[in-house]
Amino acid sequence: MLSAVPPPVTVRVPAKINLHLAVGPVREDGFHDLVTVFHAVSLFDEVSVTQGEPGIEVFGEGVSEVPADETNLAWRAVQRLAEQAGRDPDVTLVLRKGIPVAGGMAGGSADAAATLVGLSALWKLDLTRDELAPIAAELGSDVTFALYGGTALGTGRGERIVPVLSRHPLHWVIALHRGGLSTPRVFGELDRLRGDAEPVDRPVEPVLEAIAGGDPRQLALSLGNDLQAAAVSMVPELRRTLRAGVDAGALAGIVSGSGPTCAFLCTSAEAAMEAAAELAGLGVCRTVRVAHGPVPGARVVEEPAPP
Ligand code: ATP
Repeated sequence: MLSAVPPPVTVRVPAKINLHLAVGPVREDGFHDLVTVFHAVSLFDEVSVTQGEPGIEVFGEGVSEVPADETNLAWRAVQRLAEQAGRDPDVTLVLRKGIPVAGGMAGGSADAAATLVGLSALWKLDLTRDELAPIAAELGSDVTFALYGGTALGTGRGERIVPVLSRHPLHWVIALHRGGLSTPRVFGELDRLRGDAEPVDRPVEPVLEAIAGGDPRQLALSLGNDLQAAAVSMVPELRRTLRAGVDAGALAGIVSGSGPTCAFLCTSAEAAMEAAAELAGLGVCRTVRVAHGPVPGARVVEEPAPP
């Protein structure tokens, strides 16, 4: 008897920025302890999973930089869940990228999280996010957050997540840079810049209070990222981009994670549109997007968008 092939499942997953990123000293395993506040914003990748020939196709933003083979983090998610479920990894993945590649917005991690959610539905494993979280944490530090989305406090390597209640939407201009930055190299540059000095204390409480208060002006004063100095040291033009965003009307600008993408906080959706239009004309970045947050993490959607 022929078994019916299940219909494809498509999952939409957001990018993240870090409202706060405090990097501790290097640990013995080579990683750094982090205290971070993740914030999911409305730039999305879509991942479709279909039962069939094992393979991966990639469309959209930065496609030439994304490996279409077993080194893709999304494919590693397939292998890992197939192992756990005792199944063959006989699925085709289609990634439609809207998140900049190597941009410090955790696009690869997002795709891995989306793949876990998609496969759980395709294979009718019905795993909850909490059940998928340990697999996500094995795949990468940012994968767990991409499962949940919203705003969350991350500790450890970033894989230990506690949700942060944020009642008010935040409005952002996102400036995409021409090239990408390798996350390990940015951490290496931070270690080099620090030398033997102890990391400067960067408390997270003011950010959490500002999020709870919901006033973007207060939050603008407390945004901070220890990786920013390293990213700017590697891509000095970012200094100009950061200044230009504020000159264009944003409350504050910050490098997103390991960069080189920059995120600018604005007072409202209209203010973000105006700042984006002005920034786009200044030639200080490849392109701009407006976005809002927080948005939910990886979710199954009904219809895939055309590639
Ligand atoms: P981080 O999570 O470290 O902040 P990032 O957002 O800076 O990462 P990604 O877009 O996740 O960077 O890509 C980092 C590298 O990972 C890319 O240069 C690419 O070669 C590789 N990669 C593997 N899988 C993917 C994927 N699904 N999407 C994008 N890049 C991927």
